[in-house]
Amino acid sequence: MKRHMRALILLISAIGLLCAGGCTVPSDSVASAEIYALDTYIELTAYGENCNEAIDGAKAEIRRLDRLFSVTNEHSDISKLNSSEGEAVKVSADTYEVLKKAIYSAQLTDGNFDPTIYPIVRLWGFTTDEYRVPDTSELNVMLEAVDYKNISLGDDCTVTLKAGTEIDLGAIAKGYIADRTATVMTEAGCSGMISLGGNVRAVGEKSGGDRWKIGIRYPDSNDSFIILSTDGVSVITSGAYQRNFTENGITYHHIINPENGLPAESDLVSATVIGTDGAICDAFSTAIFIGGSEYVQQLYSKSDEEFQFVLLTKDNKVLASKGLEGQLELTDKYNDLVLVFI
Ligand code: AMP
Ligand code: MG
Repeated sequence: MKRHMRALILLISAIGLLCAGGCTVPSDSVASAEIYALDTYIELTAYGENCNEAIDGAKAEIRRLDRLFSVTNEHSDISKLNSSEGEAVKVSADTYEVLKKAIYSAQLTDGNFDPTIYPIVRLWGFTTDEYRVPDTSELNVMLEAVDYKNISLGDDCTVTLKAGTEIDLGAIAKGYIADRTATVMTEAGCSGMISLGGNVRAVGEKSGGDRWKIGIRYPDSNDSFIILSTDGVSVITSGAYQRNFTENGITYHHIINPENGLPAESDLVSATVIGTDGAICDAFSTAIFIGGSEYVQQLYSKSDEEFQFVLLTKDNKVLASKGLEGQLELTDKYNDLVLVFI
């Protein structure tokens, strides 16, 4: 079932990678690759003279960062922190940087996004795929350890976690990795596209003066409901449909409300955040999915971060930020959805 889901995700992410509008790039200056990492299918496309070098560099960068951030690899920086029992741990510059961004995002989102959610995610079985519904008392015990303020960043890349607290970068790592991978491709002199399980990073400018076209997936389908025309930004989506299980007729998904340890319930079925800092987009998409369409306004006024959003509501409305006017087009199949700029 999971494999099947992943195949669908792969298919859908491919939509984002289509060279829409007619590509003018000569075939000897385009290279692409598909890899499986970060627990998802990843598609890479590079355009430019050094496209093969860009793809090799991009693959190596993704694998390097995956080894640092993975909660299931016992040698990762995050695993070392999670078993540190209150002792300071020296981590890589990348782990330090992503943790900095994670704490900053947790502060801005009032803890809707909280990287210390790991004990709860594990209770539900989302990291191992051994799903089960925990009871309230178990959740309450584990919730005591959930608080991003339990992460202290020291000098020289040292990090201390309060004993009992554990980190999961699942809601921010893909955005961060997309940015780092984009840098590798840019340094090789290439433009291109990076799709991490449907989260897309457009790298540089498309040749021929066109903008990149990135599809946002309609939940539980193979199709995009809307196409965004854009330049080098990240387009990151959080949705209940991305990972879930059903028990006794109730579907439980992987985005947890840190207030109660339960799968978040808001008026949204998916939240897409668009901006230049992929890590922030990723953290914000998770927080906005949890908080809902009214919360997005709060976050907008509170944060100095420049970001745009596309929200799909449970009553089939598409709410998009005004900054995207002229850049969004509903697809033919979904043109009965109501698109509102707020
Ligand atoms: P995303 O798809 O970016 O919304 O991230 C979801 C993943 O992040 C989940 O699979 C969990 O590993 C983790 N996660 C779930 N809830 C939260 C939360 N409230 N804050 C931070 N990470 C979370
Ligand atoms: Mg996220």
